Amino acid sequence: MATVSLPPRTRKSRDEWVRRTDYDRSQQIRRAVQLTFLALNLWIGTQFYFFVRQFEPGGTVSGISRPAGIEGWLPIAGMMNLKYFLSSGVVPVMHPAAMFLFAAFLAASLLFRKAFCGWLCPVGTISEYLWKLGRETFRRNWRLPRWLDIGLRGLKYILLALFLYAVGGMSAAAIDGFLTSPYGLVADVKMLNFFRDMGTAAAIVIGVLVIGSIFVQNLWCRYVCPYGALMGLAALASPLRIRRVPELCIDCAKCAKACPSRLPVDVLVQIRSAECLACMECIAVCPAEGALGMGVAGRRWVRPRTVALGVAALFLSTVAFAKLAGHWDSAIPERVYQRLIPQAAGFEHP
Ligand code: SF4
Ligand code: SF4
Repeated sequence: MATVSLPPRTRKSRDEWVRRTDYDRSQQIRRAVQLTFLALNLWIGTQFYFFVRQFEPGGTVSGISRPAGIEGWLPIAGMMNLKYFLSSGVVPVMHPAAMFLFAAFLAASLLFRKAFCGWLCPVGTISEYLWKLGRETFRRNWRLPRWLDIGLRGLKYILLALFLYAVGGMSAAAIDGFLTSPYGLVADVKMLNFFRDMGTAAAIVIGVLVIGSIFVQNLWCRYVCPYGALMGLAALASPLRIRRVPELCIDCAKCAKACPSRLPVDVLVQIRSAECLACMECIAVCPAEGALGMGVAGRRWVRPRTVALGVAALFLSTVAFAKLAGHWDSAIPERVYQRLIPQAAGFEHP
C-alpha cells in the first residue's frame, strides 16, 4: 500500500506537510472513479436491456451477448452464492459473477472502509449528485432531528438482518434449488422488469427517495440501503481510518461541516464509525496541513490515489480471475433464455 509518512505529532511547522496537494485533489480523483464506474454500469445496463429485448416479441436486435457484470445488481444472489461456496466448497454455476463482485466489494470495505459506497456505487454517486444539486439550488441541505436520524439509520440494519436471516437459513441445496428455478435463472430479467414495468407504489417510493435525496444528504445510503449497511459493518474491521492530529488541528470544525455522514470529525482522534464513506471530503476542506488524513494505525497517511487504485485493482483483478478461471458467466444456454425471458413476468418468487 503506497503511503506517506505522518508528520511527528510534536512537529508544528506547516511546511513539513509536503503531501497537501494529494488531499486537495482527492475529490477530483474520487469523482473520476465514481463517474467511470457509473458509465460502466450504464454501458452494462444498456447491453443487458438489448440482450433481453432480442428474446421478446417485437425485439428488433440480435447477436447481443449477456454482460455477466449485470449480476453486480443482484447482491442477494451474490450473498447466497457466497454462502453456497463457503458451505459446499464448489463455485456456483448460476450467477457466479454476483458472488465474485460481492466478495470484491466486501474486500474493498475491509481494506478501504466503505469506499464501495463513497467511490464506486452508482446509486451512491447519483445520491451524492442529488444532494449537491439541492445544496447549490437552495444553498443548504436539511438535517433531520437527531432522534429521527438515529431511528431511521437503524432501518438499513433491520433490512440487512432480514436478508442475512433469510440467506443464513438456506442450505447449499436450497440455494442451488432457488437459483436454478425459473425465477432464479432470470432474476436479472425480473430486476429489469421491475424498472421497466414499475407499479404505482414502487414509482411513488422511488420518486419520494429521489426528491428527498435533493434535500437530505445521502438519503438512500444513510437510511435504507442494506448493502451499504453490510459494507459499513465490514469496514469496522478495516485498519484504515480518518485520523486527526490534535496538535496540528486549529479547531475550525470545517471537517465536521463537510462530512456527508454528519460525523464529529473535529472532536474525535479517529473515525471508527460504520457510516464513514472514506470520501475524504473532510480532509479536502481542512486548512491545517497535516491535521487530518486517512491513515493506518496512526503512523502512515494513505493517499487518495492509493484508495482509487486499490479499489480499481480489487475490482479488475477479481473480474479477471473469475473470467480466466471460467467462473464469470452463468451456465445458462441461450435457448433457455429464449424460452424463459418471454415468460419472465409470470414467474413468482419460489
Ligand atoms: S469522516 Fe470524512 S471520509 Fe468519513 S464520511 Fe465524513 S467526510 Fe467522508
Ligand atoms: S478541519 Fe482540520 S483544522 Fe479544522 S477542526 Fe477539522 S481537523 Fe481540525
